Amino acid sequence: MSALFSTSRRRVLAGMTAVAGGLAVERSGLCSLAATAASRPDEFVSGKQGKLTPFPMTQVRLLDGICKQQAEINQRYLDSLTTDRLLHSFRVTAGLTSTATPYGGWEKPDCTLRGHFNGGHYLSAVALAYASAGNDTLRKSGDTVVAELARCQKANGNGYLSAYPQEQFAWLAAGVTEWPKVWAPFYTCHKIMAGLVDMYVHTGNEQALVVAEGMAGWVHGYLKDIGDEQRQRMLRIEYGGMNEVLANLYGLTGKQEYLDTAHLFEQPSFLDPLAGHRDELRGLHANTHVPKVIGAARMYELTGETRYRDIAQYFLEEVLTERSYAIGNTSVGESWRSDVGNLKGSLQYHDAECCVAYNLMKLGRHVFSWSGDARWMDAYERQLWNCRMGTQNPQGLKQYFFPLAAGYWRCFNSAEGSFWCCTGTGAEEFAKFNDTIYFHDSNDVWVNQFIASELDWKEQKFGLRQETSFPAGQGTTLRLKLTAPQKRTIHVRVPGWTAEGGAVRINGRELEAFAQPGSYLSLTREWRDGDRIDVDLPMRLHSEPLLGDPSMRAAFYGPLVLAADLGPGPKDGPLKIGGYDTGPKDADLGPPAEAPVGPAGDAAELIEVVSAKDLEFKSRRSLAVKPMYRVTDEKYAVYWGTEKKV
Ligand SMILES: [Zn+2]
Repeated sequence: MSALFSTSRRRVLAGMTAVAGGLAVERSGLCSLAATAASRPDEFVSGKQGKLTPFPMTQVRLLDGICKQQAEINQRYLDSLTTDRLLHSFRVTAGLTSTATPYGGWEKPDCTLRGHFNGGHYLSAVALAYASAGNDTLRKSGDTVVAELARCQKANGNGYLSAYPQEQFAWLAAGVTEWPKVWAPFYTCHKIMAGLVDMYVHTGNEQALVVAEGMAGWVHGYLKDIGDEQRQRMLRIEYGGMNEVLANLYGLTGKQEYLDTAHLFEQPSFLDPLAGHRDELRGLHANTHVPKVIGAARMYELTGETRYRDIAQYFLEEVLTERSYAIGNTSVGESWRSDVGNLKGSLQYHDAECCVAYNLMKLGRHVFSWSGDARWMDAYERQLWNCRMGTQNPQGLKQYFFPLAAGYWRCFNSAEGSFWCCTGTGAEEFAKFNDTIYFHDSNDVWVNQFIASELDWKEQKFGLRQETSFPAGQGTTLRLKLTAPQKRTIHVRVPGWTAEGGAVRINGRELEAFAQPGSYLSLTREWRDGDRIDVDLPMRLHSEPLLGDPSMRAAFYGPLVLAADLGPGPKDGPLKIGGYDTGPKDADLGPPAEAPVGPAGDAAELIEVVSAKDLEFKSRRSLAVKPMYRVTDEKYAVYWGTEKKV
């Protein structure tokens, strides 16, 4: 970390304290910022309004296991991309020379979303990979892209930075919104600004903050003369998390104009019903709207206005309980298309867009930090293991839709000819497994997720090594690394799915007490170096119905959705690896298969555990069964019919 960076961060924090309006800024957060070059904005802001703060990813390292393996696959994919090709359309737009071969798909030089991945998600992903795994090669590539984006912005002359010309924004203001002539100009703008902010926050790249502020200045100038009515019309076009990234810039700099501009991206027509606890989501495009709520969450954290907190909590609870599938994700053909609590008849190929899960999990981290309520981390775990893990193939390619009708299969983006939105959010997701495992307050530590990893809370001289093969292993072991005895409480999540027999042992001695499933087990004592905590979290088979349709049930083992293996899916080719399109064409997909049938009552009765430690199962009717996250190329079914049809 450079001295310049260190100084800058102190200035930033001084600004933060000033804008906090007397609210206490968490002291440990301040210390960690001074000591490390990488922290996300939420890591030093969320503690102001809430109870808990995530540890910076630089203080958490993954140990060998599936998460580390998947993170490394993602890093290899990111490393296969070259900066000259990523920068091509930015340079051309700025009138600079580029001889590189442009990438394809949504980054093609005639695609009106170009730049969203190349100058946006890519920067976020490499910044996260640096913070989470110390990947310096990717950080340097990120630095190159930032420097060249700065050159492009300078050539544009007015703060504007994009891989397409400003006419997109002129058309937006004029009400020209036909796709693909205009796609989503501010959506792309958000991705680029977020990528720059991530490079600043996670790697300390000062230039990235300067470029992001230049863009914010351009946005402010563009919007300042546009009236409310016209602006609200423009906001019907997807704009990602513009309110979030502007709020983050305010948090980082203390400059009021960024908060004012963030407010310009608020839509009363969307937020007011949520504030009134009314679900008017039917008909809305899911991934357009979740980022707006993340922006509201940040507004609460930065301003203390509880209306924003209520909006975020209500929205998340409503979507998770009334509009989500067993895998923990939502949307049908990218939208909410049904009445509250009714997903009957919605199983198809185009379910559960992966970006939506990414954004719901991001929102869930914020909401959890305000209360420490275990149910948010239960939901996060369900999403992590059922609709994120498994959506990357061994080449690092990502999934877009998550088919939930029987007989379909996973389809992935091509390496250089897709660059979907979900390619981008997937590249970020698989670079940040260690951002949610542990949270803390001023003294205590929360163990939220069971992922092999090591925590080094430098400021408190507190180390914790988590050894687990979860979910193959049913529990976890925590070993403390201390230089001197310390009194504090360690809170370990006991998931809602925990079966009879849950137990905790400290240094081999079982405690008489345990926690209710769906809460945190709080262990308070004077801890010593080498202390060992073993937590048993037994899993059992269970099931739950599709919302609104008790005749369709999903089977679980602990947190894991169990899928029926319906035989080989297509080999690599158009049905398996997509290009510009986000999956096979309808005519090539064919109709879904009939859902496998279980006995009346409970699909879980159909399944037998062959080996818990190997996560091997079989159906009593001879179908192969496996955790959904282990389904790779096979055709599968997540939902089982419960009526006897024979
Ligand atoms: Zn997407």
